[in-house]
Amino acid sequence: MSFKKFTLSNELRLGLQDLRYEEPTPIQDECIPLILEGRDVIGAAQTGTGKTGAFVIPLLQRIIEHPSEHTQALILSPTRELAQQIEEQVFALGYHTGISSATVTGGSDYGTQVKAIRAGVDIIVATPGRLIDQMKVLNLDFSHLKYLVLDEADRMLDMGFLPDVMKIVKQLPTDRQTMLFSATMVEEVQKVVDEVMKDPAEVEF
Ligand code: AMP
Repeated sequence: MSFKKFTLSNELRLGLQDLRYEEPTPIQDECIPLILEGRDVIGAAQTGTGKTGAFVIPLLQRIIEHPSEHTQALILSPTRELAQQIEEQVFALGYHTGISSATVTGGSDYGTQVKAIRAGVDIIVATPGRLIDQMKVLNLDFSHLKYLVLDEADRMLDMGFLPDVMKIVKQLPTDRQTMLFSATMVEEVQKVVDEVMKDPAEVEF
């Protein structure tokens, strides 16, 4: 097993080398080709399986193939800490690609977040409540969004974020690719899947 079998740009391969990712983890092995094909994907996986890379690697590749001046991807996470970890992986893996990202979360780096967003970013990683609060203030435009990731969906629901998540999803183009990751596939998560995804492929670990 190696990343060689996937069609990835040289710039993205440099990022994989920097992070010493030599072989895909099992969830990456399953998710990367599906996401590169444009499928909606549900990943039932715990943290520690490499699930962040499973969506970040193919997302970066798709954005490299179809660059745009608009924000293309929104990643929603239950907590500020997780959002920051995801953005760090986007930054590190995408370091040589020129793809830009920013977080929209509560916390002390508000000035940095505003500056990055105003400059225009390809990927936004956000917590749902904070994103709702900031949508108008930051003048966020998701009308050209192509990719939505709901990470740790079960935790987002446990934390009461369902109304915020649905409010955000309603503002996104319906013609998008959606990926959802969840440690457990409880009924509430399945309801979200039914509402926001199209013919998703399911990958379980
Ligand atoms: P995650 O499940 O996304 O939180 O990732 C768990 C840890 O595995 C993180 O420290 C990642 O940097 C690392 N990781 C993810 N993918 C790979 C890979 N293909 N090879 C080596 N380490 C990886």
